[in-house]
Amino acid sequence: MFLPPRSLFARSNCSCCRFWPLLSLLILLGTLPLHAQDNGLENPGFEDGVNGWVIKDSMSAISAEAFHDGKNGLRISDNDAKAGSAALSARYKVEAGATLKLGFWERSDKPGFLGVYLYFYDANDQLINDPAQRAGAGHPVCGAKEGDGQWHFYTLSTQAPAGAASVALWIHSFGAAVGVADVDDFSLSGIGEKSATQEPASAPKSVATAAPVELPPRKAPPKIIIKVDDLRQIDGKVNGLWIKFANFIKSRQIKANIGIIAETLEIATPEYAGWIKEQQATGRFEFWLHGWDHQTHVEDGKTYNEFDHRSYEDQKKRFERSQQAARDKLGFPFHTFGPPGGAPTASFDAQTIQVMQDDPDMKVWLYPTPIDAAGKQLAAKGKVVVLDRVYAVNIEGKVGVPEYENFVAGYAKNPDREYFFIQGHPMHWTPDRFDNFVKIIDFLISQNAEFVLASEYAAQMGK
Ligand SMILES: [Zn+2]
Repeated sequence: MFLPPRSLFARSNCSCCRFWPLLSLLILLGTLPLHAQDNGLENPGFEDGVNGWVIKDSMSAISAEAFHDGKNGLRISDNDAKAGSAALSARYKVEAGATLKLGFWERSDKPGFLGVYLYFYDANDQLINDPAQRAGAGHPVCGAKEGDGQWHFYTLSTQAPAGAASVALWIHSFGAAVGVADVDDFSLSGIGEKSATQEPASAPKSVATAAPVELPPRKAPPKIIIKVDDLRQIDGKVNGLWIKFANFIKSRQIKANIGIIAETLEIATPEYAGWIKEQQATGRFEFWLHGWDHQTHVEDGKTYNEFDHRSYEDQKKRFERSQQAARDKLGFPFHTFGPPGGAPTASFDAQTIQVMQDDPDMKVWLYPTPIDAAGKQLAAKGKVVVLDRVYAVNIEGKVGVPEYENFVAGYAKNPDREYFFIQGHPMHWTPDRFDNFVKIIDFLISQNAEFVLASEYAAQMGK
């Protein structure tokens, strides 16, 4: 793919650039705050070649065909479907908390082809990764969104994070992208003089350097069913880890689904049952059935999970006893089921499927695997909605251990999936692990995810 010379391009009239002449005028008239006209970058339009830039990757090159203004620009020719380009600016001193304003021109034949990242470094030249930044990239990113072959002007305003001592621009075509883009006439305000260190050890030097996780565009934000397992009464009480979990959900004004092991409901204290009812009344929680006792059982020397290798009558009784205890102590039956595990074998069998079909209150199955033939057959009967798993998108990497990076990587690979139910075990969450859970949720919030109750969501799907 090759872009024709500039003369063939009409000047864009998209909304992002329409006001640029006006903006320039305002700057000239001095009616904008001083910072808006500052440009601390050396050689911002590549007129002096590579001065002020660190361009070592094979995809980026100064080119006389790539100019927006002047005689040079930077052309990125990316024909690698896995790696992206990696041109870096010099580094400039910056103060934590300072407001930085980035602007640049870009044209390409692909929408969402590249982004310009602000890489902040601390006083020890280490790259600062801020998990609150969008796209999981850990750095503020200004993505060039258009892809119509016209020049567009893009801007980003951001604050230097705590601990920041210097900043560089990283111009990067996204890993999966293939095509050509030109960038030119950068401006960056809010920065100090050029920093002595130009190329720290942690700077990306080549296209082989792992890029931050890039999120392909989604048609719509995802629906998220937070599924947490194993609530039961201990010494007549609700464990503090559950209270911490529920308080966090409420503090973020989101929703979650808590799986109850029903056996202790029969002996529920007013404190335990009262806490559940209180959470339920907020409208932010659905309590669902996670088995009667969650115990494995042994037959002929083999260990089976609670709902595997048991008769229909036995399994039916486990549901009925659980529903009765829920009605008696909580005032409502369960509408959603997720089978307990424990043994590395199946967590349900054909009898369980029949019980789900027969239990009058059961409407939703948090299916422990990706959908299969048995799940499809049950769903086709129309009574039970089967919500299935995407293994790669889960709170916990190993059972009991929330893993943020792992989550974002899996999420990035599933842009077409409408919903995810993501599973966790708060009783295993030490403070460090809980922090990782919080990072995952805050990342999803930044993605405009909608957190839903399993029953509510299933009812929408059913329509
Ligand atoms: Zn469990």
